[in-house]
Amino acid sequence: MIEYWSEGDPIADTAAPDGPIETRWERRKFSAKLVNPANRRKLTVIVVGTGLAGGSAAATLAEAGYRVKSYCYQDSPRRAHSIAAQGGINAAKNYRNDGDSVYRLFYDTVKGGDFRARESNVYRLASVSLNIIDQCVAQGVPFAREYGGLLDNRSFGGTQVSRTFYARGQTGQQLLLGAYQAMERQIGLGTIEMNARHEMLELIVVDGKARGIVVRDLVTGEITTEMADAVVLASGGYGNVFFLSTNAKGCNVTASWRAHRKGALFGNPCYTQIHPTCIPESGTHQSKLTLMSESLRNDGRVWVPRVAGDSRKPGDIPEEERDYYLERIYPSFGNLVPRDIASRAAKNVCDEGRGVGPGGLGVYLDFADAIQRLGRQAVEEKYGNLFEMYQRITGEDPYQVPMRIYPAVHYTMGGLWVDYDLQSTIPGLFVVGEANFSDHGANRLGASALMQGLGDGYFVLPTTLGNYLAAGPFETIEQDHEEVQRARKGVEDRISRLLQIDGDRTVDSFHRELGHIMWEYCGMERTEEGLAKAISLIRSLREEFWQRVKVPGAGEQLNQNLEKAGRVADFFELAELMCIDALHRRESCGGHFRAESQTPDGEALRHDDEFSYVAAWEYAPDGGKPTLHKERLEFEYVHPSTRSYK
Ligand SMILES: Cc1cc2nc3c(=O)[nH]c(=O)nc-3n(C[C@H](O)[C@H](O)[C@H](O)COP(=O)(O)OP(=O)(O)OC[C@H]3O[C@@H](n4cnc5c(N)ncnc54)[C@H](O)[C@@H]3O)c2cc1C
Repeated sequence: MIEYWSEGDPIADTAAPDGPIETRWERRKFSAKLVNPANRRKLTVIVVGTGLAGGSAAATLAEAGYRVKSYCYQDSPRRAHSIAAQGGINAAKNYRNDGDSVYRLFYDTVKGGDFRARESNVYRLASVSLNIIDQCVAQGVPFAREYGGLLDNRSFGGTQVSRTFYARGQTGQQLLLGAYQAMERQIGLGTIEMNARHEMLELIVVDGKARGIVVRDLVTGEITTEMADAVVLASGGYGNVFFLSTNAKGCNVTASWRAHRKGALFGNPCYTQIHPTCIPESGTHQSKLTLMSESLRNDGRVWVPRVAGDSRKPGDIPEEERDYYLERIYPSFGNLVPRDIASRAAKNVCDEGRGVGPGGLGVYLDFADAIQRLGRQAVEEKYGNLFEMYQRITGEDPYQVPMRIYPAVHYTMGGLWVDYDLQSTIPGLFVVGEANFSDHGANRLGASALMQGLGDGYFVLPTTLGNYLAAGPFETIEQDHEEVQRARKGVEDRISRLLQIDGDRTVDSFHRELGHIMWEYCGMERTEEGLAKAISLIRSLREEFWQRVKVPGAGEQLNQNLEKAGRVADFFELAELMCIDALHRRESCGGHFRAESQTPDGEALRHDDEFSYVAAWEYAPDGGKPTLHKERLEFEYVHPSTRSYK
């Protein structure tokens, strides 16, 4: 086999304290240097992104007294992709008295991530989950409540307790409004300078430290350079490398990828989450896919006909001729198995010819039992907006006929490598939320992304960034500094190059083809042969892109084709690294399923002796091979075992 990478020195997370896990975060907080309030006013922090991670970080840093410059490409910070989150946010409050605890959330998350996440980070995440709910309630986030007035909970996959707080099917929107209002207050006070419709196109590194960014005003096309004492990336995930995903159309990897090219290592790029409950693709006209929240699996039952090729309407198939396969194969967790397990099971029954709907690429999610047991009104109260969304898109009424669902790309566990302080390998560059790789290992449990984004932004970053900034303010960097000018020129040259190609293929046609390659070979099932083929296909398609792409219009104006072209160019490079990462990891774990590594009954087979590490990749310029740095994972508390949900 061709060697697509080389191996470098191991890497370690030196920021995490050792000792008893319960006190690690307390001890880290105590040892972190503080910045006196009067000095905070002299320190500037750039925050790229206004989703839950960036919004909460910007608001909290500004409240603490730092000067914050905030950027997003949407027309308002409150339109960040986090607004799309439906189902809920986890917290170990144990309001249900059903056996939950910080330790159990920690345990579930380490196990759910298939023992490929750091224990220290996950324990901290579980601990701050308690504070997040209090913070959001104090902001007025209207979480669902029970009759007695307490906050209500529901269950999500991979757990046997109810710990998910929610606001109908629009939890992300309500949480984001909380963070946004906190930001707006600071914008009003002048401590946050908000720059909506601005896209970061490059990181500025001076003397080895992150000191600024190059941004393009998306309305006028003006390029500017913005300086600060530290830079925080909260730029979200890169699932759109697959073209079709549940992510908002604008989600992209550019901010992270530009930082990667400047020296920030990229962690576990191949770990992608395929969500089991999405509305199936309906044709080539589609530009995105729609999620049906995992919360629906609390009450919906997943099934397919027992016999392949059964084309009867669902209502005509009697109970005994249905296969409630998740309940059958995984009796302990039933319909609430984690996403990676549920997705693969759906693929398997469809591969057996038992899928339903057009092309046989679908399974039923049936609410008939729930409606009979709870009544239509109760079901409507919990899931009304999701049912309405489904009906609008498919034309079918899920109160009458089962929903049809199929797995789709949803979340990326990989991202920029960060230490316990959320600092990347470039000093002064911190990464929060979905953009970092930190807490979910090889598979994220449902309702844990919102928890991580808000945990990072409200509680972790303000302490750890302060520790870094305590050494500041750093030397002022002038606009004519050669690194600033070089970064700016790099951006300008790239834009001119894209505009000058003047080819005959649209950006979208390249993106769609890239997405097909990724879904086919680096999607739900991966093989050595397929990944090697994907790398070669990606390389030739990328070459073609740089010769044939057509980007109409100019740089000095609103030009969405130009925006997309830059993002797709970065997706090409990322896609290759994802395939290399997937190729090198010759084991199955979580969302990364290598067909060569499975148990006799088709479950993921890990190889802890060889692969119990984070793969942190170093960028290789000029088409060279990326370098792999391994961060060994130690498990002192939750010992690796074969994950079983049976
Ligand atoms: C449909 C859907 C439903 C979901 N439901 C849930 C759920 O119920 N529970 C849960 O826990 N998780 C859920 N998730 C996952 C969760 O919503 C995301 O992981 C999370 O919201 C990401 O937040 P973030 O702040 O990291 O990034 P985002 O919310 O994606 O924000 C990214 C920000 O970065 C900005 N940005 C990006 N690049 C640039 C650039 N180059 N220059 C300037 N700005 C830039 C964007 O403008 C935006 O403001 C869901 C995901 C999807 C797709």
